[in-house]
Amino acid sequence: MNEHLDHVSLLPRPLVAAVAEPVPVVSARWLLGRYDYPLSHRILELCSLAAFVALAAAMATQVVPSIGDRRTGWTIALVAAALMMGCALADLLSGVVHFIFDQYGTPTTPVIGQKFVKPFRDHHIDPLAMTHGDFIAVNSDNLLISLPVMGLALAFVDLSTHPYIGVFVLALVLAAGITNQIHKWAHMPEVSRPVRFAQRRGLILGVEHHDCHHRAPHDRHYCITFGRLDVVLDVMTTRLSCGSADRTGTAHPHQPRCTEDRLGRQTDHHAT
Ligand SMILES: [Zn+2]
Ligand SMILES: [Zn+2]
Repeated sequence: MNEHLDHVSLLPRPLVAAVAEPVPVVSARWLLGRYDYPLSHRILELCSLAAFVALAAAMATQVVPSIGDRRTGWTIALVAAALMMGCALADLLSGVVHFIFDQYGTPTTPVIGQKFVKPFRDHHIDPLAMTHGDFIAVNSDNLLISLPVMGLALAFVDLSTHPYIGVFVLALVLAAGITNQIHKWAHMPEVSRPVRFAQRRGLILGVEHHDCHHRAPHDRHYCITFGRLDVVLDVMTTRLSCGSADRTGTAHPHQPRCTEDRLGRQTDHHAT
């Protein structure tokens, strides 16, 4: 062993490097990425990503040529409207799901407790934990639940005849599919310049906007895709909370904790 090392050390430097470093091979780590959970779960996540890309491409191959053939003045307006409606619904759904699992059930609730309630509750305790996962680990659950939506659209809608429905569904599943990525960016201390630009311009969930949710008791700003539908959801969740408080005869616990002025600066009403 020592003779081998001495022999290597006497070689010219470029040759030493060539002998000492392993020959690159296509390894399992290169294919699967870095993860710290069961291999079977990682493979399911990768399959979800591949299926999502395949179904989205199948939809796009019907939608894009059909829109390209329509050269009416309404085309751009209808495509823009379908895009906005799809993104708005994804934002609202992100908030509704977030509200339900923040407010109802516990981590020990049968079936949904460990998989759905616990991650949302843990996120309030350690918001940075989600930033440690890679793109696949963070987003694959949302990509997986988007698959039936795309499958139904492909099976029951003639997207060549109704391309605007296809645009709506694509916007919905794409926005929903990367919701956790957008949420993750809102917690990362460093992001790329395009992401920072999008956050500051309100094109995706803003850091300051989402910070409001992370102030106890975590009862505002549930939307985690764009945050725009919080305008609607905050009113709805407040009324729900008022109703439950009235029925139980207890004081309403959900008073505004923070608001934003038109420049996005926040005011904590309970701060001294
Ligand atoms: Zn929450
Ligand atoms: Zn968060």
